[in-house]
Amino acid sequence: MRLVILGASGAGKGTQAKALASHFGLRHISTGDVLREEIKKDSIVCRALKRLMDRGDLIPDEIMLSIVEVILSEENNFILDGFPRTFSQALALNAICERLGAPIDAAVDIHVPDEKILQRLTGRTVCPSCTAMFHKEYFPPKVTGVCDKCGGGLIQRPDDTAETVQHRLKLYHKLTEPIADLYRRQGILISVDGTGEANQITQDLIKALEERF
Ligand code: ADP
Repeated sequence: MRLVILGASGAGKGTQAKALASHFGLRHISTGDVLREEIKKDSIVCRALKRLMDRGDLIPDEIMLSIVEVILSEENNFILDGFPRTFSQALALNAICERLGAPIDAAVDIHVPDEKILQRLTGRTVCPSCTAMFHKEYFPPKVTGVCDKCGGGLIQRPDDTAETVQHRLKLYHKLTEPIADLYRRQGILISVDGTGEANQITQDLIKALEERF
């Protein structure tokens, strides 16, 4: 099964993508995680990428496409999280999938209002070692600042400040939101409300996907 997951930053894409990956036995490919892993290296290219990411700006399409093409050529069952993020990335993804003879089966789109996103992201902390996420109000770790899963130190992502989140939301509405229409026209879009309880959303998505396949 080949899935794409869409939604603004903080809509719960990562959480749902991990849950669906584990239920259906898919590889969870988060382009944000791939990039964050990469920029731990201290090369000039990585520092340039980090500057763009810390500002909440997008990495140029050409770079993202080369990365995704390499990953997808090695993987046939996946859920793509964070890609495509622009209309041209979506068209290019269709072209890559066509070349590989492996089309995208469904695109999940998670809706959450901007005010809620702002609350979620500015209160979020993440574990750089295992990518687990916490929230100071909604989902605090047992020990403040320490990851429940691996014991690593939690940090606020540099792009989770209020100002940068507003910028990322603006880019999302302008560049990413129109992609849903493309998948709607292809007849493979599944839209869900992302404001409810995470486990319930996962169950609804599993049901919708199982009905489809
Ligand atoms: P978010 O929580 O905002 O969804 P991600 O972890 O998916 O963030 O991505 C973090 C950053 O990585 C983005 O703000 C962007 O700089 C870069 N990035 C990730 N995926 C893409 C992509 N498909 N195209 C361009 N830039 C990307």
